[in-house]
Amino acid sequence: MSTKSWNPRSLAAQAMGKIDPQTRAVVPPIHISTTYIRDEDNGYSSGFIYGRPDNETVRECESVLAMLEEATAGALLFGSGMAAATAVFQALSPGDHVVASKVMYWALRAWLLTEATRWGLKIDFVETDDLAALKAAVKPGATKLVWAETPSNPLWTITDIAAAAEIAHQAGAKLAVDSTCASPVHTRPLTLGADIVMHAATKVLNGHSDVVAGVLCAREDDEFWNRVKTVRKGQGGILGPFESYLLMRGLRTLHVRQERQSASAMDLAQRLSAHPLVARVLYPGLPQHPGHDIAARQMENGFGYMLSVQVTGGEAAAIKTAAHVGLYKRATSLGGVESLIEHRASIEGAGSPCPTDLLRLSTGIEHVEDLYADLDQALKAGHG
Ligand code: PLP
Repeated sequence: MSTKSWNPRSLAAQAMGKIDPQTRAVVPPIHISTTYIRDEDNGYSSGFIYGRPDNETVRECESVLAMLEEATAGALLFGSGMAAATAVFQALSPGDHVVASKVMYWALRAWLLTEATRWGLKIDFVETDDLAALKAAVKPGATKLVWAETPSNPLWTITDIAAAAEIAHQAGAKLAVDSTCASPVHTRPLTLGADIVMHAATKVLNGHSDVVAGVLCAREDDEFWNRVKTVRKGQGGILGPFESYLLMRGLRTLHVRQERQSASAMDLAQRLSAHPLVARVLYPGLPQHPGHDIAARQMENGFGYMLSVQVTGGEAAAIKTAAHVGLYKRATSLGGVESLIEHRASIEGAGSPCPTDLLRLSTGIEHVEDLYADLDQALKAGHG
């Protein structure tokens, strides 16, 4: 039977089912060599020349990621999510126009406003969930890239990927989607018309808060994708073999983790919506969320592991609530098996669209009753 007929979760569980040909090991060895033997005729028939672009463990992990994202042009691993994201912008040319989501991972927004702008990119930030605003912002011929994060951190606004792709393509631009907070279990942006999908693989793809990594996946092996490959090779942004191995191990359980995490996130979102000390819950799975209808169309197997709550009592109550958690860990980041809570505005600083009464919750795999009980007691203590 061809591997094409197996479900992605089956292929991921076995990291594509590769067996080491020499030992018959079901877990392939980690390849650590930085260099490879040249053929007698001076060629490199193995396809491996030097460790900066070439590593078998990296390639094995990339093949799992490309399969999960249905990326016909393949995947490229980087040393962090930021390294992956910035490689896309560095593949553009000075003077190129970019339209990017206003609500997005704050460090990328800061990089775009400083480094990318210094390098000559012209960037406009719009609410990419507002298609009319997106349409008005693209400049046919000049706009080369639309960058959308969906669900967007930390308000979880939803951009209609298929509609955004159409707008980008009509203007002659590519659409890249930061899908970190969806993961391929919920959304596969390339199948909806996006050209590139990016993940901070540090988050749910690895899932264990012990690897910093990033990945780009592409639909077409075109000139732009080759520019991205050149950027990674030239700048040495490739992920190391040990991290690639750990990431591949994490990917084996991605589906079971994601299903548990999103089911718990939905349960918590519903219960917290009725909590007297919570003013508002932001979660695309809730019918009252402005992006719910689009999320219901473009997400499957749930609505993701991330939600935010705005507490009654403003910033002071939010910070005090976070100070009183027990099971939740008060830390930045997201997507791990352990649940995290964070007062986001104090990390993002000036210029952030994040309300000061907002707490961001990353849902792990702990028992959902324990998670709710912990939040309930922290909210009460935070308002005491
Ligand atoms: N994109 C999103 C949505 C993120 O949450 C993050 C990190 O938190 C990044 C990108 C950057 O990833 P990394 O921290 O691996 O560089």
